[in-house]
Amino acid sequence: MGLFSRSKPKIKIQTAKKDSFSGWLKCTHCNELIHANELEQNSNCCPKCDYHYRLSVEERIKNLSDDDSFHELFTNLQAIDSLHFVDTEPYVDRLVSAKEKSGYDEAIVVGTCNIGAMPIALGVLNFNFMGGSMGSVVGERLTLLIELALEKRLPLIIVSTSGGARMQESILSLMQMAKTSAALAKLHEAQIPYISILTNPTTGGVTASFASLGDIIIAEPNALICFAGPRVIEQTIGQKLPPGAQQSEFLLKHGMIDRIVNRRDLKNILIEFLDFLKGNPRGNDGETIGSPDVAKNNIKKVSQS
Ligand SMILES: [Zn+2]
Repeated sequence: MGLFSRSKPKIKIQTAKKDSFSGWLKCTHCNELIHANELEQNSNCCPKCDYHYRLSVEERIKNLSDDDSFHELFTNLQAIDSLHFVDTEPYVDRLVSAKEKSGYDEAIVVGTCNIGAMPIALGVLNFNFMGGSMGSVVGERLTLLIELALEKRLPLIIVSTSGGARMQESILSLMQMAKTSAALAKLHEAQIPYISILTNPTTGGVTASFASLGDIIIAEPNALICFAGPRVIEQTIGQKLPPGAQQSEFLLKHGMIDRIVNRRDLKNILIEFLDFLKGNPRGNDGETIGSPDVAKNNIKKVSQS
């Protein structure tokens, strides 16, 4: 987690007095003064330079889904410390303080919602909970969500932000990479669309598994997206990386992602993509999402033209 806190611009609060918040903040990206209300109205993007600050899970769900349509699932799954892992502090204590600090019970929230009136299976990773790290519960909730999408034939959307695997769960954490990937392979076979959204930062075992397996991969601007961080790579290969080598813009240029989308356009772009993947023009809901017939017809249309 410390790896990312260094490069993450923090908004410095400017106050006249210690105990009275003026509402003015200084953007650490462009150094301009911006007002907290303005920032909030702009989906937590700087109104001056458009730098995308982190969204909470709650804000993200609000930003993407139709009003009050989100229904959270699989909250019965809670992390346990089966390895009795202790580093500088016991894992069980870390879990307790992560819950207290973040107000969430894990590094992911999954459920169903509507986006543009279309029913969707949605997963949102939570960086505020142990750096969005993928432990057994994150992997299992995701896998159950993917299986639900398969059963109900719901398009799947996962919004990622993560420091990678949860080291306190060792091999149990790494196993989640294979499990989520295997579940996604079944979804792919059933021709149900999966859109992966990468936000700042998406790294490690999350990048190396489900986050990179989307039929469409979208990233937010300026997001750090990588497996190993720049410092680790430089130490390993003894070379400096080219500037911006692990950012959305570089990855788009090199074909690793499909599109960079500004947060304020994200919902509308998702609706467009979902309509396209459904094989239906907007307003014609006659066909099942991702059904083999739809795909076949689309292939026919392409070969005829
Ligand atoms: Zn700015």
